[in-house]
Amino acid sequence: MSHPQFALPQGFQAVIIGGLGGIGGAISTLLLDLGARVTATGVMSAELETSPLAGRDGFEASVLDVTDDIAMASLADRFGTLDLLVNCAGILRRDAEHEMSVFRQVVEVNLTGTFSACCAFRKALAAAKGSIVNIASMNAYSGLPRLPAYCASKGGVVMLTKSLALAYADDGIRVNAVAPGFIETAINADGRKDAAHYQRIAARTAFGRWGQPDEVAGAVAFLAMPAAGYVTGSVYAVDGGFLAG
Ligand code: NAD
Repeated sequence: MSHPQFALPQGFQAVIIGGLGGIGGAISTLLLDLGARVTATGVMSAELETSPLAGRDGFEASVLDVTDDIAMASLADRFGTLDLLVNCAGILRRDAEHEMSVFRQVVEVNLTGTFSACCAFRKALAAAKGSIVNIASMNAYSGLPRLPAYCASKGGVVMLTKSLALAYADDGIRVNAVAPGFIETAINADGRKDAAHYQRIAARTAFGRWGQPDEVAGAVAFLAMPAAGYVTGSVYAVDGGFLAG
């Protein structure tokens, strides 16, 4: 049985930055399944060409580099109103993040890129009393020696989420984050080739396994629904219980 609190309103429009990757693609798919119109972006045109979502009703894809403020503004200008912005673009550079230029690049994409999208889409979100969901990470709370920029950027995304929740409340915009644990996607494909590393993480997780992208998407959809109308400034962990112990 459906319930209006747990559904997306008619004509719901979402923009998913990084919405063609592993987690972003799962979020785009679920929102389309729930009846939304979805614009998803990827940094490379190859992602658009190979997306299994191409041709679905209500779906469109765009190339966007989140470090390009002009491209971000021009994408946002296409939307008079917007119900949901999801910031899901992200990169990591194992070990190389100890170099200044790489550290800057990772923070620029993961943290500054998130802020750039929030600024660019604020007006359209205010017009619809919409919401933002930022994809943070469990590593906002738990550091990793080989990923100092990634962890710092995700800690920054958590505090950005809380600060913008306060700043945008008068506009009627809710701002929340989802903090996934270890989810099997392209971002960690290299790391997963190390069987000992893969098993160590599975064993350290309460559920004894890595997560799948579609297991993250549900939390994002919930945060976009009327049922979450009093939720802002929150960070939802979707980590199979990794941080519980
Ligand atoms: P992914 O590599 O499949 O997707 C990353 C996406 O980011 C791609 O769509 C890519 O186009 C986009 N992107 C990269 N650089 C960009 C740029 N400069 N401009 C615009 N877009 C850019 O990886 P994923 O695991 O699906 O990652 C999605 C988000 O989830 C990231 O923010 C990541 O940090 C976060 N996350 C992932 C995990 C995990 O275990 N997979 C855990 C916690 C958080």
